Amino acid sequence: MVAEVEAMYAETRSETGLAAMSPAVRAAMGKVERHRLVALEQRGAAYRNHPLPIGNGQTISQPYIVALSTDLLGLTSSSVVLDVGTGSGYQAAVLAEIASRVFSIEIIPSLGEEARKRLEGLGYGNIEVRIGDGYQGWPEKAPFDAIVVTAAAPRVPPALVAQLKPGGRMVIPVGGEGEVQHLTLITKRADGGHDEKRVLPVRFVPLVPGKN
Ligand code: SAH
Repeated sequence: MVAEVEAMYAETRSETGLAAMSPAVRAAMGKVERHRLVALEQRGAAYRNHPLPIGNGQTISQPYIVALSTDLLGLTSSSVVLDVGTGSGYQAAVLAEIASRVFSIEIIPSLGEEARKRLEGLGYGNIEVRIGDGYQGWPEKAPFDAIVVTAAAPRVPPALVAQLKPGGRMVIPVGGEGEVQHLTLITKRADGGHDEKRVLPVRFVPLVPGKN
């Protein structure tokens, strides 16, 4: 699977600016056992470079997108990361292999609780899962060095930009219903503003708007 992901890096090099997986991301992708985070009936397909259903109409992204998003965040071993859309917990696990702490929010209680149990079972003591609306971020744990959103938003959520440290990065699929979504890299500037760069056209499930 890692080799297939590498091949996609090479193919998309001109759009992403990344010729190859960074060593840290490659090690994390090699280490996290995707089959342990997906349902029993999906296990046979866990190492294909494909999205997978995880129940409740949700899907886990293809490994290439997980690797690319993680790479674009430029994590270090001291990074504190917010992960919006826990789903199976796979993206959170990949982040937690590299970063210091991962705070992950899921809006569907059953998915979040299952992921929390699985991640605990795998020994990820540096991941905290909360049930809630990721649109609002996690203000009590902010600011973050990095934020990754794994469901598409029609616009970049202002609360998330506000919770990034200066110099911090966010990767988020942006695009409304019926529009082409773009994986977008946001960089927070020291003056509080931010820069946006469209990286690739993608297809994610939509971020569910919260009730507040
Ligand atoms: N990152 C996940 C896959 C994400 S699929 C993984 O690695 O498996 C998108 C997830 O976002 C779904 O689980 C969905 O329920 C969740 N989601 C959608 N809207 C949300 C919101 N407003 N806040 C938090 N999670 C949300």
